[in-house]
Amino acid sequence: MIDAHCHLEQPDYNSDRDSVIESCKQKLNAIVTCCASPDDFDLTMQMLEKYKNFMFATFSVHPIYVKEINEKQKEEFFDLIIKNKDRVNGIGETGLDYHHVTEDAWREKQKELFIEHISLAKDLKTPLVVHSRDSTDDAIKILEQEDAKNVLMHMFGARHLLNRVKENDWYISVGPIAIHSKTHKKIIRDMPIEKILLETDSPWFGSEGKRNVPTAVLDVANRVSQVKKLDVKEVDEITTRNAVKFFGLKV
Ligand SMILES: [Zn+2]
Repeated sequence: MIDAHCHLEQPDYNSDRDSVIESCKQKLNAIVTCCASPDDFDLTMQMLEKYKNFMFATFSVHPIYVKEINEKQKEEFFDLIIKNKDRVNGIGETGLDYHHVTEDAWREKQKELFIEHISLAKDLKTPLVVHSRDSTDDAIKILEQEDAKNVLMHMFGARHLLNRVKENDWYISVGPIAIHSKTHKKIIRDMPIEKILLETDSPWFGSEGKRNVPTAVLDVANRVSQVKKLDVKEVDEITTRNAVKFFGLKV
């Protein structure tokens, strides 16, 4: 089983990061951690070095940081990503977040940044991981305009747009929200299992607001197994295969 999206560089793990990762190694085949800010780059690279063939990473400026990062910082970060392309298994999470960013001018800036990330992913021939919150209509429009192919819609919840995702042959990742959400349940039901990846978005979305860990992806697999009426072992095999294929993981 693979946690296809989490953030293990977060300070939540500063006191026990290695033991969290070691316990993941007992239960999972791989983890894809998401480095969503230049500040997280060094720690992410250290983890990749230490846990080769188990930890993999995607890189981006998260759309909620659009106000904090200037052009020069972004350029330097992109250069760093390009220079380390052998360690890059995807660009993301990138996209649009209208929940956190409400001003029109900043939303326009998010769109620009999103397009730059899409073209970076194309240049590096690497997949794209998309975050969208209250903005999935616009995010999909941009992805289609830019002709983005290898796309994962992370924690996808916009059910009215699921057909567009399917028509474009993109993937979705299912996270802990799906365990209790009826909308996400219907999305799982209507999406072919060959296009589903599992994730936790740890440290977020832990039960009772506690810190989450990637091994909680097992609960997500159980939910998919219930909804799809498949054995959890089968869900494990198929979604693992999907993640390996999507990110090109060398596990
Ligand atoms: Zn995330």
